[in-house]
Amino acid sequence: MKLSADFAFTQGSLGDYADCPRRFELRYLRRMRYPALEVRQALDYEARIRKGQRFHKLLQQHLLGVPADLLARSLADDDELRAWWEIALSKGLDGLPRERRAETTLESSLAGQRLLAKYDLLALEPGGEAVIIDWKTGARLPLRKALANRMQTVVYRYVLASAGAQIYGGPIPPERIRMDYVYVAAGGARLSFPYSAAQMEADETRLTDMVGAIDAAAEFPLTEDERRCRFCNYRSYCDRGEAGDFNDFDFDDAEEDEDALALDFDQIAEIEF
Ligand code: SF4
Repeated sequence: MKLSADFAFTQGSLGDYADCPRRFELRYLRRMRYPALEVRQALDYEARIRKGQRFHKLLQQHLLGVPADLLARSLADDDELRAWWEIALSKGLDGLPRERRAETTLESSLAGQRLLAKYDLLALEPGGEAVIIDWKTGARLPLRKALANRMQTVVYRYVLASAGAQIYGGPIPPERIRMDYVYVAAGGARLSFPYSAAQMEADETRLTDMVGAIDAAAEFPLTEDERRCRFCNYRSYCDRGEAGDFNDFDFDDAEEDEDALALDFDQIAEIEF
């Protein structure tokens, strides 16, 4: 099965392929929606997903100009959400360049394929820093090495470096780019990943190889690492056991999945090469 002409890669789809080629095939090529639960505690899961979405929406509204005190009044019913919000305001936005763009999508191209990135926040200073902020609501900090290797880190920095000229006022030197993950449920802990020309070249090779392999693939095997099936909604379709536990679920991944599915193609700032 081939990629459709209008297919666009994202960090979510590439991450799915890296985790399990079959999941990529089912989700993006066959576009199969499968109703299995991600975790056993479905109601808790739904409520937690909605809270994460509400948090991201609050930040977006604030960065679009809605006063913080007005938004804070809507949080009286949820102490946890209010705590995330206060930490984001007090620690997440400190010291960032003045020009800020919430929920911005950029498109690049790679090996003849489209590559999209949807950012929670871009903070730019033409000629100065270009900072990517990604809000995380998971309570556990991942290992720094794992986060550096994550498709989101790779794709977001690469797409900004290759397609960000339009919003920066000219090409962005990779050394001006930094990606910060801000963990609001972990006291506002920040994990920063600077960029460089050498890293961009390595990322381009990695991404080009992945895209080429997907485009040329004759089959998409099931992952051999069955731990990756625990929170996959194709689990029963693949006969790969029962749903995992809510307490072990990584909601940061769910936030990324939501982003990938919610890409609004009308918002894409397209750059010609
Ligand atoms: S259940 Fe496992 S094998 Fe099946 S698509 Fe999901 S990760 Fe892949």
